[in-house]
Parts: sequence; structure tokens; C-alpha cells
Amino acid sequence: MSRHTQAKRIEGLDRNIWVVFAGMTSNPSIVSLAQGKPDIPPPSYVKEALAKAAAVDDLNQYTRGFGHPRLVKALSQVYGKVCGRQIDPFKEILVTVGAYGSLFNSMQGLVNEGDEVIIMEPYFDCYLPMVKMAGAKPVLIPLRVKSGKKPTTSADWSLDPEELSSKFNSKTKAIILNTPNNPTGKVFTREELQMIADLCIKHDTLCISDEVYEWLVYKGRQHVKIATLPGMWERTITVSSGGKIFCATGWKIGWSIGPEHLIKHLQTITQNSTFMCATPLQEAMAESLLHNFELMDQPECFFTSFPEELKTKRDRLAAVLQEVGMTPIIPEGGFFMLVDVTSLNQDLSHTGDDGEAYDWKFVRWMITEKKLAAIPITSFVGDESKKMFEKYIRFCFFRKDSTLDAAVDIFKNWNQS
Ligand code: PMP
Ligand code: GLN
Repeated sequence: MSRHTQAKRIEGLDRNIWVVFAGMTSNPSIVSLAQGKPDIPPPSYVKEALAKAAAVDDLNQYTRGFGHPRLVKALSQVYGKVCGRQIDPFKEILVTVGAYGSLFNSMQGLVNEGDEVIIMEPYFDCYLPMVKMAGAKPVLIPLRVKSGKKPTTSADWSLDPEELSSKFNSKTKAIILNTPNNPTGKVFTREELQMIADLCIKHDTLCISDEVYEWLVYKGRQHVKIATLPGMWERTITVSSGGKIFCATGWKIGWSIGPEHLIKHLQTITQNSTFMCATPLQEAMAESLLHNFELMDQPECFFTSFPEELKTKRDRLAAVLQEVGMTPIIPEGGFFMLVDVTSLNQDLSHTGDDGEAYDWKFVRWMITEKKLAAIPITSFVGDESKKMFEKYIRFCFFRKDSTLDAAVDIFKNWNQS
């Protein structure tokens, strides 16, 4: 056999939605509401903190591998308050290259070949390849809408408790939870989380809880951390991302929080792979978190003011979509909105490439004909659920007003050829 062949663990994983879309949306004439990459800058104190950090000689060198001391201490203060427990900054927190790094380290450090990992559909795309790269089997379960109902908000999607229960067995190592969810915007309720927690406890299963949009929850909804439910701290890794918190996705500073007996295995992966994250970025992230920790529970705290700002954008996009006859599914959290395009009755049978799901055809057509980009939702589901989700596309509304203005113009002129 040729020595130039790929490693078995990456077979079938070469296609990636973000790589594909970077190519499809590179033309500046296209208005992109596709990737979750904001075109709004971070708050100025965040950028200033980075410039200040880079000006300190020592902060341009290596720091502690599992997390810069100032950052892990800041994280333990913030999450200690949120979780209502003391969190050991050195043993219960690990800083990683983005939330991606935390997810990858969790799979590599905790999941074995032959294990099963439960993933809810639609899911953030990297979960599936990460489970496969660990040699485990992804077990998919779709969020469903009550029969006969058309969803209008992300709360209309839920897990069927019996179906979820049927997915657990003696091989189940972990379940991956994502709340607020990308792409639906669903914020799991305490009751829904309790149902998941009961199954995790009953089957002695781990929970990897991706909470990168934890601060982006709209009025009337509350983000509940599954790790704070009884019996869950000791079996949960909670993942978040500084890039998402401060509109600085390019910083790639994320973290895992959990009990020492789990975090230490993620640390083993870190020390033997990336070793550590950039020191000045960690210092600036610490500074930015502490700035807001002082303001917590006050309206000027970014954790509170930012969702308010985004809600205006969410509502503006939803209103214009409704005007042109599309059905937006109002998200309870995050900065993505699913849209049901069924009612547009866009005939795409002539576009060829049969076998491709409708949402992909629709998005390709929309990019070419309308110069507007979104993400097709079947990129976030397995083959068996494709039919259920192929009339949905995802728009990102975390865009500056001028970008949203351009999108609004496109929608308003939708019916003119
Ligand atoms: N999880 C979810 C649900 C996401 O949407 C993203 C994308 N930002 C990530 C993880 C990865 O975050 P990061 O850029 O911090 O690696
Ligand atoms: N999380 C972002 C999204 O969902 C993109 C992640 C990426 O570009 N790799 O759009």
C-alpha cells in the first residue's frame, strides 16, 4: 500500500462546510449572512487590553501550559459566581485553542475506540468528525417538532424523551449538548436538561456541554448550565469561547471547565499537542473578563448589554423575512436564525446535481441569483434526517447595520427578477 495514503481516522472527513463556504462567499459583491464571523469589532477595552499585553516583554513568551495564571483565575471568579461553587483555577479549568480545542481534547482525552457518543441534530458540524477521529461511533438523535405543528420559535424543537432514552446503552460514553444551540438557537429549559441529566446519571455517562453562546440569550429565556444540576458537576465538561463572548472569533481562546478527574485527561492532550495558547491573548482575555466581572448584574456589563444589541438585529431580520413570505424561526439564543423556505416554492429541479439536498441547491441558487449567502442546514445533520431539515437555511444576524441594510434590500426586491 502507498505510504502517501491518509490515516484511517480521517477517512471521509475531508469536506468541511466552512472551507466550502469561504470559497463560495469570497466575492465581495455577495452579502454573506453565512459564517458566524461578526463584522463588528470587539469593545475597545478588549482591543486595548491586547495592545497593552503585547507591550509587556514577558507576556510575549510562553506561559503556563494549561492556562495563563491570570486567565484561569479570572475564569474561576466568573464561573464560580455563575455556578455558585468554588472552581479551582489550576485543576478544574483548562484554556484551549478556541472551543474547538476543548471539544477536541475532550474527545481525545475521554472517548475510546468502540464507544458511542450521542449527538443531537442539527449539530455544530465538528462534533461528528471529532467523535469519529477518536474511533467512536456517533449516535444521532434529531430535535423534533410536535407532529402537525410548524415551528415558529426555536423552543418548538425538542427531544423525544423515549427516543433519547433508547439511544443510551452500555457503550454510551458521552452525550454532547449545545445550549444555546447552533444552528437552531434553542435554549434548553431546566426541565429538558434535567431529563438529559437523569439519563446521564442512570447510565453513568459523561456530558460535554458546548455553551459558547452562554451569554447570548434573549429576554424571557435563561441559560442553565447542566453542570449545576445535582449529580452533574462530576460528569460534565463545560466548554466556552472568549472569541464568542467578546466578538473576537480570531482570538481562538476557549476553555473547558469540569472536575479535576476529567480535566486532567484533557490536560494530557494539551501538553502533548498544542502545549499552550498565545500569552498576550490570554492576558487580554483575563483583563476583559475581569472588567465585566466588576460590572456583573449591571446593565452596562457586556454580558447583559450585548444580547440587547443583538436582539434588535434579530427582530429586524425576522420582520423583513416575514414580509417577503419566508418563515423565520425566532431563536431564543445565539446569533443564528433558521428560515423555512418552503413557502417560496422555488423550483430548483433544473439545477441538476441530483442527490444534492434542496437546501444546498437553494443556497447555491440564492448566492448566484440574489448575491446573498446563508448556510444549508443539512450540513448539520446525518443522512437519515436530511429530508426533515432540507427546507431550512441558516442566517447569521450578527452583522453591522450596513450589512443588514444590504440584506434587507435584497429581501425587499426578492420578487423582481
Ligand atoms: N461550538 C459552537 C456551537 C460554535 O458555534 C463554534 C463556532 N464558533 C465553536 C464551538 C467553536 O468556537 P471557537 O471559535 O472558540 O473555537
Ligand atoms: N461557528 C461558526 C458558525 O457556526 C463558524 C466556525 C468556523 O468558521 N469554523 O458559523
